[in-house]
Amino acid sequence: MQDKFKQLRTYLGEVMDLAATAELLGWDQQTYMPPGSNEGRSMQLATLSRLTHEKFTSDELGSALEDLKSIVEELDPNSDDARLIAQVSKEFDKQRKVPNEYVAEFARITALTHQTWEKARQESDFSIFRADLEKIIAMRQEYANFFQPYDHIYDPLLDDFEAGMKTADVKKVFADLRPRQVALVNAIAESSYQVDDSVLHQEFDESTQWAFGEEVIKAFGYDFNRGRQDKSVHPFTSSFGNDDVRITTRVAPNYFNTALFGTLHEAGHGMYEQGIGKQLARTPISHGASFGFHESQSRMWENLVGRGKPFWIAFFPRLQEYFPEALRDVNLDDFYRAINKVERSLIRVEADETTYNLHIMVRFELEIALMTGELSAVNLPEAWNQKYEDYLGITPPDDAQGVLQDIHWSFGGFGYFSTYSLGNLISSMLWEVIQGDLPDLQSQFEKAEFGGLLEWLRANIYVHGAKYEPMELLKMVTGSALDADPYMRYLEAKFGEIYKL
Ligand code: ZN
Repeated sequence: MQDKFKQLRTYLGEVMDLAATAELLGWDQQTYMPPGSNEGRSMQLATLSRLTHEKFTSDELGSALEDLKSIVEELDPNSDDARLIAQVSKEFDKQRKVPNEYVAEFARITALTHQTWEKARQESDFSIFRADLEKIIAMRQEYANFFQPYDHIYDPLLDDFEAGMKTADVKKVFADLRPRQVALVNAIAESSYQVDDSVLHQEFDESTQWAFGEEVIKAFGYDFNRGRQDKSVHPFTSSFGNDDVRITTRVAPNYFNTALFGTLHEAGHGMYEQGIGKQLARTPISHGASFGFHESQSRMWENLVGRGKPFWIAFFPRLQEYFPEALRDVNLDDFYRAINKVERSLIRVEADETTYNLHIMVRFELEIALMTGELSAVNLPEAWNQKYEDYLGITPPDDAQGVLQDIHWSFGGFGYFSTYSLGNLISSMLWEVIQGDLPDLQSQFEKAEFGGLLEWLRANIYVHGAKYEPMELLKMVTGSALDADPYMRYLEAKFGEIYKL
């Protein structure tokens, strides 16, 4: 039995090595690769992803899993080995349902579509993208149908990002959240008190911004001995195993929020990966529990910590030392309000905490309508603009600032968007539990001490990797199912105070 486990671990280790190598090439592509090398790199990545898929869906792995089935029944169902085999079996069955020809064709189509989307966005013309998007939608419907029977055609897509989560669950929690978020955003817009954030729109030296961000994430506990930070057009986190987890950021010379909050966000993702239990290394469960759980961590460090008053009590005096001219005469409270300014804006990635989920709901509802066939691609821009009017009270002036703003649909990422909002909700649910366990937390932050929080997160969440399904882990840690109340309590308290509601 031990031998069979050992063989399985060795085999899975090789699969993970291939995947990590592809990840490293992808990281390089977005950081240091010369622009002219794109074609060769795409070939290398395609080869590696084909080899990974072949190895992970091989008959050899299938019979190894089959052999271990009877043995697993004798193990503690919550042991690492039992969980590893259960998760690998589930993923194996799932990937085997998708024909190789589909995988190759989908990779080919999405590579082309990405270019069409870029061109369409540049020219702000949805009609350039429409035919390709129709193909992608048809292929995603085909994909979902490999997994029949399902309750909803969107379920198999969602499951790729948030294992075990159903469309009906997300619909239910969004239906609860939507009217409360809309009401809060309206109340803020109508408040006689408004926030001035001009202090953030000054000249901030780029390398000084970089140095400040690194000082903060070192204090958080991001480990530079097992990670690094580089520049990229869009910030992201890459893990090549828990001892090499890299983050990227971008710096805007005339706007303070871009670099710092991007850095804190990615460091949150990074610390999660760095904290995963060593015993899970080189297995397919050696990563975060789900996209939503991952986002709960990036958002926790970015927003619940980094946009909170206690954090700035510690770091605003430091920031003033970094930028004496720009910030010497600014007081802490004004700065705190500026970084938390609420605005009904068109662009999701720039949205504040109160409006962010509304951007997500627009996309979630449209994706479902596209998948069920209720909405066709030709009517998508109009439907998009109508939802922005309904939920945010604004209408995009053009497609670039509307329906073409996000990359996700161009790579076929239907099912992805809702995980951003799930992350917000999960972060606040965890936060309430953490406050109970660590009543001293806020005063620790005021002294720039974050070890208590990081240790708690490591012990309760990070160490488990993807051993548990996300909603199972949430229940274990908080005792509750997914719930919008903690997030609304958090928003109403914080923004009620800032906007004097
Ligand atoms: Zn993120």
